[in-house]
Amino acid sequence: MIAYIEPYFLDNDADAASVTGQSFDGVSESLHIQGEILCGGAAADIAGKDFGGMNCVKPLAVVRPVGPEDIAGAVRAALRSDKLTVAARGNGHSINGQAMAEGGLVLDMRSTAENHFEVGFLPSGAFVDVSGGALWENVLKRCVSEYGLAPRSWTDYLGLTVGGTLSNAGVGGQAFRYGPQTSNVTELDVVTGNGDVVTCSEVENSELFFSVLGGLGQFGIITRARVLLQPAPDMVRWIRIVYTEFDEFTRDAEWLVSQKDESSFDYVEGFVFVNGDDPVNGWPTVPLHPDHDFDPTQLPQSSGSVLYCLELALHYRDSDSNSAVDKRVERLIGRLRFVEGLTFEVDLPYVDFLLRVKRAEEIAKVNGTWETPHPWLNLFVSKRDIGEFDRTVFKELAKNGVGGPMLVYPLLRSRWDDRTSVVLPEGEIFYIVALLRFVPTCAKTSSVEKMVAQNQEIVQWCVRKGIDFKLYLPHYKSREEWIRHFGNRWSRFVDRKTMYDPMFILSPGQKIFNRAP
Ligand code: FAD
Repeated sequence: MIAYIEPYFLDNDADAASVTGQSFDGVSESLHIQGEILCGGAAADIAGKDFGGMNCVKPLAVVRPVGPEDIAGAVRAALRSDKLTVAARGNGHSINGQAMAEGGLVLDMRSTAENHFEVGFLPSGAFVDVSGGALWENVLKRCVSEYGLAPRSWTDYLGLTVGGTLSNAGVGGQAFRYGPQTSNVTELDVVTGNGDVVTCSEVENSELFFSVLGGLGQFGIITRARVLLQPAPDMVRWIRIVYTEFDEFTRDAEWLVSQKDESSFDYVEGFVFVNGDDPVNGWPTVPLHPDHDFDPTQLPQSSGSVLYCLELALHYRDSDSNSAVDKRVERLIGRLRFVEGLTFEVDLPYVDFLLRVKRAEEIAKVNGTWETPHPWLNLFVSKRDIGEFDRTVFKELAKNGVGGPMLVYPLLRSRWDDRTSVVLPEGEIFYIVALLRFVPTCAKTSSVEKMVAQNQEIVQWCVRKGIDFKLYLPHYKSREEWIRHFGNRWSRFVDRKTMYDPMFILSPGQKIFNRAP
């Protein structure tokens, strides 16, 4: 069959064909696919690039599946061929081509976004069944507006799909309490690399359930996820406080994330910024409102080249009085050792708070930096080594900034499930570090190359120094690096691959396993 399809797609390169089953000489029927199939330039336009903007590959075709049967049809077609691969593409917000399939089939999961939306109630709590291809921002809006409920754990930016973040982990300022998004789903529907459509959970097909969570798309394609919900608050007090000393910043951050549920903020993140007036990397990135001013005269003389900001949020209801909210905030931040005079606060609706990065997206779209490359680096670094990381990376290598946020905040390992495919550093507390580099439109190619080289330098330094770290949203080119990444979990990862995708069909863009040519 593929022998027939492949040349057909490849010959249509120039025409950017977009077809449905009936009008495509029976190809879709042969694949048992009801949805649209695109090839040539139209396929490359959709799936040839990603948010990272540093990879460009040509898929054989893009399939817009109607549902799991179409997805299974595409996987089974690949199984019948001797080289075809299949990549689920969520919203293509990967950095290093992870959702791409060179010469393979890319499933545009966004076409399935509306397939599921059902809220249910169990004695253990509320949940929503959503599509793997749904955007988190739409899940949020519907859950809040129709039910007054919301998922518990979020990423900072919500223009990402449910399947895309669950394939990695899904980390944000609520993860210290609820764990990553992978700790907040109880059931999945998955199409495996064997072409089987399987429902799985902690108690049913549990090995598949845990394989797929954080599984980098290697074991199955998530078509439905059951996500835990909680009552949505009405409002959020969003706060930023500034530190000059890294050890004081980490002490306070770790204290906040280690408190019992009701005794802390509902959201804890942090970032590093340059001690200077640079609008992209420095003081102006801290205030939360145009009326706020960052007054550098408040900083002690001794402050260094970089400063630190704790970002906190407290949920409340419309019915809570201002003074009650003030009191809760004062009780919590009263114990912290930030620089007096450098605190920033705003109150805003809960949904606006969760959609805060959308405003940054709009600005970046206007100034062109949403479209330029994004050589980002994300790591998890153990508490043991975060001080050394600060001294070498934040205070030296990145002391002039990276053209975007440099996030650093603590997470608790006990909120993660060891049975998922995610790998973490040792110890209960570890930090997520994210160097979110944006490239000005006028920048030369060589400046992107320099950023990539600096990322590599940081990773190599970590390896050389024996820093206890793991890449988040990992990207490696060699088998040896993947083996090092997974460490003693490598054999489990390989066993899972053998069980659920023995022909190495799924997510070839991760470059972990290679379908034999
Ligand atoms: P894609 O990039 O399309 O796919 C990612 C991987 O998952 C690929 O291997 C793909 O094949 C696989 N995949 C996609 N859909 C499915 C599916 N349904 N079933 C199985 N596999 C699938 N991450 C965080 O944790 N926290 C953040 O705060 C955060 N903020 C971000 C902000 C921005 C602006 C961007 C660009 C990224 C951010 N990320 C964050 C990273 C993001 O979570 C990952 O890049 C994620 O993979 C993107 O989701 P996506 O839907 O675009 O997935």
